[in-house]
Amino acid sequence: MIIIFVSLLMWRRSLLTALICLATLGSLVSCSQNRQDTKEEVKIVATFLPVYLFTRGVTGDIPVEILITPNKEVHDYQATPGNARTVAEANILVKNGLGIEEFLEKLIGGNSQLTQIDASEGIEPLSEEEDEEEGEHEHHHEEGEHEHHHEEGDPHVWLDPVLAQKQVTNIRDGLIAANPANEETYRTNGDAYIAQLQELDREFAAKLASVKGCKFMVFHDAFAYLAQRYGLEQIAILGIPEENMTPADIQKVLKLANTNQVKVFLAEPGVEDKRLEQIAKESGLPVETLDPLESGETDPQYYFRVMKQNLASLEKACK
Ligand SMILES: [Zn+2]
Repeated sequence: MIIIFVSLLMWRRSLLTALICLATLGSLVSCSQNRQDTKEEVKIVATFLPVYLFTRGVTGDIPVEILITPNKEVHDYQATPGNARTVAEANILVKNGLGIEEFLEKLIGGNSQLTQIDASEGIEPLSEEEDEEEGEHEHHHEEGEHEHHHEEGDPHVWLDPVLAQKQVTNIRDGLIAANPANEETYRTNGDAYIAQLQELDREFAAKLASVKGCKFMVFHDAFAYLAQRYGLEQIAILGIPEENMTPADIQKVLKLANTNQVKVFLAEPGVEDKRLEQIAKESGLPVETLDPLESGETDPQYYFRVMKQNLASLEKACK
């Protein structure tokens, strides 16, 4: 009992504790307890795949939890009781920001100690493309509820290798500020990951330099930042229902493709989109994949593998 009391008093002084532990066989349990306390372990949580990949790129071996399992859709995600527990126990939460993690609002209230890192801080968002041509966009003005901007802009900044550098920098600096004990780890890994992103940007710029102005066609309007960065144009097919497309819908898409001289349709891998199958069949145009990286593998290098495939697809679409 006395030993445990003494070691509790000394819990910050790991050396002393260790000595006491060594001297006393009976207090093994309290020793391991103390060792955890003195290391001040942090519990880091990231919201969904791209921010998770960037955060793991910075933390290296320090574990990070992911809230949305990578096979789930972030848009319109509904939080689970498990998510609430994870956030309640976390010290640091890393999010993409720009309004894509709407589900977070309900989760964060319970943890006043939580440090939040907004990876998009300082990034000027593009306004989200409203489907003007379709004329059926939903205005959701919730006047009188609360005064937050419901138009936070396009959240898909991670798909631009330059803005991704800004996100990784924000994550690196946020983690250093919240957990200075691991500064060296965060700095070394973060800088290496940023250097890789710079290399990726050079590759995109070099390979897309000769196809400036190229228009590519997608169903998921996730590539506006990427397009703007390299002088391309995203044509997003919006306002077409996922089920039961009418012949008029198909004609609308084909006309859009024709007007913009689109030679390839770009589809999200792993997403079964009957619309695209049907449209591709009608138009006779080939389908390539363009991955918004909202789901996939959890290895931080996965970002680079997919982005290089995306680059290859864009080269084909812009040939
Ligand atoms: Zn998206």
